[in-house]
Amino acid sequence: MECMGARNFGAMAAVLLSCPCPVWRSKTGVATQPQSSSSSSSAKQSVFNSNKRYRLCQVRSGVGSNSSRGMNDSCSSVAFKEGMFADEEDYIKAGGSELGFVQMQQKKAMSQQSKLADKLRPIATSGEGGGELDLVVVGCGPAGLALAAESAKLGLSVGLIGPDLPFTNNYGVWEDEFKDLGLDGCIEHVWQDTIVYLNDNDPILIGRAYGRVSRYLLHEELLRRCVESGVLYLSSKVERITEATDGHSLVACEHGIVVPCRLATVASGAASGKLLQYEVGGPRVSVQTAYGVEVEVENNPYDPSLMVFMDYRDYIKQKVQCLEAEYPTFLYAMPMSSTRVFFEETCLASKDAMPFDLLKKKLLSRLDAMGIRVLKTYEEQWSYIPVGGSLPNTEQKNLAFGAAASMVHPATGYSVVRSLSEAPNYASVIANILNQDHSKGKSTLERRYANISMQAWNTLWPLERKRQRAFFLFGLALILQLDIDGIRIFFHTFFRLPTWMWQGFLSSSLSSADLMLFAFYMFVIARNDLRLCLVRHLLSDPTGATMIRTYLTV
Ligand SMILES: Cc1cc2nc3c(=O)[nH]c(=O)nc-3n(C[C@H](O)[C@H](O)[C@H](O)COP(=O)(O)OP(=O)(O)OC[C@H]3O[C@@H](n4cnc5c(N)ncnc54)[C@H](O)[C@@H]3O)c2cc1C
Repeated sequence: MECMGARNFGAMAAVLLSCPCPVWRSKTGVATQPQSSSSSSSAKQSVFNSNKRYRLCQVRSGVGSNSSRGMNDSCSSVAFKEGMFADEEDYIKAGGSELGFVQMQQKKAMSQQSKLADKLRPIATSGEGGGELDLVVVGCGPAGLALAAESAKLGLSVGLIGPDLPFTNNYGVWEDEFKDLGLDGCIEHVWQDTIVYLNDNDPILIGRAYGRVSRYLLHEELLRRCVESGVLYLSSKVERITEATDGHSLVACEHGIVVPCRLATVASGAASGKLLQYEVGGPRVSVQTAYGVEVEVENNPYDPSLMVFMDYRDYIKQKVQCLEAEYPTFLYAMPMSSTRVFFEETCLASKDAMPFDLLKKKLLSRLDAMGIRVLKTYEEQWSYIPVGGSLPNTEQKNLAFGAAASMVHPATGYSVVRSLSEAPNYASVIANILNQDHSKGKSTLERRYANISMQAWNTLWPLERKRQRAFFLFGLALILQLDIDGIRIFFHTFFRLPTWMWQGFLSSSLSSADLMLFAFYMFVIARNDLRLCLVRHLLSDPTGATMIRTYLTV
């Protein structure tokens, strides 16, 4: 398993100093500055210089041996360049006021992971005599690598374009789901069962094994699939994608490099607003934030054979009541052994991202209150996951996949399994259309490309999926309104549903009809105050009306 030492932090911070600024054009054409989401975040003190082209944020990291609170803090500045974001929503998806931490997470050094450029043959750029590619996939995260490999396996000439960065996130998955994908070899630790605590009594056993993905093994496996299927690679950021007169796409990268292709698919993560159009007037994006530490501890109370999916217990008995009320959080814990544990303080969803410094404070006071003493910190994790928000506009020619295509589950923040499992089918839809004869002139081509996009978009977002998403967005909006007690009541009710129902919800396997039954059942068994809350929410929140409309659409 990879670990990050304190020495990596200096390197990370140095890389960050070259990163671009949250300044965007408003609809009136006036440059605007983003609002800070919370004044409570001491880690983000922003300073704009005189020409307002760069913004500096201070970010603080605590990897290394422990201080009295469990970690040593070190500070660094992060600068962001102007013009990086399409609009405010794009800025929020990229990290908003927490952007410095998000970029630290993305730029962690993971020296074990292979460089894509060392293993994949390069895309021939202009002047090198390369032919036109069938497909360009933008972005080298799990979604991009999986789609590129699956498409090339079907005989398409595929180019992958994106920065040559390692996987840095600690992904957690239900073991059976990864087994079904043939990826169980990429799991580095399995817990045979998973537990939820809502109060001091009666913990709930989920009855399902959970695994921690090895970032290294997953990256190597997806890269191996790309190598085997002949994917070509260019290490660059894509700046825009335009359409040539013949209907094909021109993928414009840094340093003036342009890669022509028949079709482009954007898999560059949630903040892809500069390459894709999203539906206007959709729900506002919310954010799940979590601050995690992998630590060596004394007095770990958690059983190493159980993964702690959610610990919502009142660990501090009112002491930080006002913070709890503002941002209800829970603990997610992966005990790797009796002394080495990955703890993560998690805010399931919030309209304004819960700041990482506040999450860190809550985690440390929680561990303190539980009598857990931190001896050594191996790694910190800043998890920032935009949830909800709009779907991509499905009439555009460029396609999307993964977080860029809004495939992140609005209620859980998960997307990796969905992306990996849908990649083969999505690739075959793209291949089928591209493989059709295209020698009939421009107007036919144009029609065909519009058709390609529509067919492929419908594969990702058929009506059934849209209904499920509308349901989850309704649930997300409800959760956003609940305080910590409301959330505990909600989950108490949730875990009293028939097992197949709550298990199906957690694994995203319920159909839109099942979800309706789920809602009805929940209503029947809920306490009166929760019932009232559900009815009020259905009648007053716009997501209620949208859900009903989407369910009634045929
Ligand atoms: C810390 C953390 C933990 C998470 N844990 C889980 C989990 O346990 N389970 C789960 O299912 N989900 C998890 N998620 C949520 C989500 O599934 C991940 O963010 C996942 O990585 C999304 O995959 P992706 O390939 O769609 O996008 P990303 O992984 O974000 O990859 C996008 C890639 O595109 C590149 N890129 C960006 N802009 C450009 C550009 N202009 N040109 C070219 N390339 C570009 C980026 O460098 C990056 O490599 C987690 C997220 C975070 C941040």
